[in-house]
Amino acid sequence: MKYDYDLICIGLGPAGMMVSLTAAGIGLKVCAVENNKLGGECMNCGSIPSKALLKIAKLRHDCTKLSKMHLEQLSTPQVKNLFEKLQSDINFIRDKKSLRIFGMFQKPS
Ligand SMILES: Cc1cc2nc3c(=O)[nH]c(=O)nc-3n(C[C@H](O)[C@H](O)[C@H](O)COP(=O)(O)OP(=O)(O)OC[C@H]3O[C@@H](n4cnc5c(N)ncnc54)[C@H](O)[C@@H]3O)c2cc1C
Repeated sequence: MKYDYDLICIGLGPAGMMVSLTAAGIGLKVCAVENNKLGGECMNCGSIPSKALLKIAKLRHDCTKLSKMHLEQLSTPQVKNLFEKLQSDINFIRDKKSLRIFGMFQKPS
């Protein structure tokens, strides 16, 4: 029997991206399908954005404790365009970095 692909990977979250890249790396012909956003939950709404928000919140909180650390107390930084900036960083990682790696995969016409 003749096949067009050695592997069809449905979903390009972290698992699908890893499987597809590994399979392509060992020379298999891969068809990878994603019906929403490359990177799945992890990149778009789970791990990466949540860890960024936690880090920012901790940093801001630490700024309120400067005098206790014998540092000059500065005013607490205000939140400024946080979600817009976070979304644009995620878009950059997804579109400029990950999509370049997945350039080998074409959207079906
Ligand atoms: C708030 C939050 C924080 C998290 N923090 C961490 C963390 O710190 N560390 C950690 O290890 N994990 C964390 N996770 C969990 C992590 O995001 C998931 O374990 C991981 O994304 C699972 O990867 P996956 O590839 O299995 O699935 P997903 O990321 O869910 O990807 C599946 C992909 O398949 C696509 N898809 C589904 N059906 C189809 C279809 N029929 N056709 C085409 N495409 C389809 C979806 O659109 C999606 O892109 C967190 C999750 C959340 C919600």
